[in-house]
Amino acid sequence: MKIQYLGTAAAEGWPAVFCKCEACKRATKLGGKDIRTRSQALIDGKLLIDFPPDAYWHAITYQFYLGDIESLLVTHSHQDHFYPLELILRGSPYAHEQNGCLTIYGNSNVKRLYEIALAEENDCPDISEAVSFQKVEPMKSFTTKEGYQVTPLPAIHKENERCLIYLIEKGGKRIFYGNDSGFYPEEVWAYLKGIHLDLISLDSTMGNFSGGTGHMGIAENIRAYERFKEIGCVDETTKVVVNHFSHNGQLSHSELEEMVKPYGFLVAYDGLVIEA
Ligand SMILES: [Zn+2]
Ligand SMILES: [Zn+2]
Ligand SMILES: [Zn+2]
Repeated sequence: MKIQYLGTAAAEGWPAVFCKCEACKRATKLGGKDIRTRSQALIDGKLLIDFPPDAYWHAITYQFYLGDIESLLVTHSHQDHFYPLELILRGSPYAHEQNGCLTIYGNSNVKRLYEIALAEENDCPDISEAVSFQKVEPMKSFTTKEGYQVTPLPAIHKENERCLIYLIEKGGKRIFYGNDSGFYPEEVWAYLKGIHLDLISLDSTMGNFSGGTGHMGIAENIRAYERFKEIGCVDETTKVVVNHFSHNGQLSHSELEEMVKPYGFLVAYDGLVIEA
């Protein structure tokens, strides 16, 4: 499997939409890998994870057709991960000759937001032929039409919502996509025990600082990595990636790389492609 990181920032982007802090000014000046858009990833050019307000920009920049995508995994309802108003443009007259139907997989909060967008803004009479919604639950695996076996797992992220992270399997390879979440709950460790992971993608929103309960920083990423090793998920072929960064974490891309170098982690940036 091949994962491409399309957007690697937290909710506000980096530089953040309305921010003039030093970390944002520095990112603007540095450019390149220090410019981070909102969170999204693409597996094998086919399976999309999350749909932020920057999804349209990602498709233009990384040259793929959103109309070709038929499966979308949504982690949770925060707007940097799910921007449903864009999705209702997949119907006619806004979209022509798109592939089949896009299935959105998500929890009940995500479903509610999609239904609100449909009820209030939809003027595509045949939208149900272009987009459908499938509600998913933690620990209940399903298979997408492209043949990915997907297991939603519970994140620790937001009150009053069962936010999800995902285990994605195909052709004997496994990717664990672990944002947004604080240090993973015991059910996640119990589920993953003894399962070999080819790629582990961690929430590193707070960089040098502690992430608190809803996110992690590098120190918690290291602790999570130790736990993955303890329960037998990691061998010398496993790639570990830190992802989803906030300007409040402050570290530039090269500073992050320096910090995680002793552990062999990779630092995600917009556009990064990794073969798992
Ligand atoms: Zn986020
Ligand atoms: Zn800022
Ligand atoms: Zn979030």
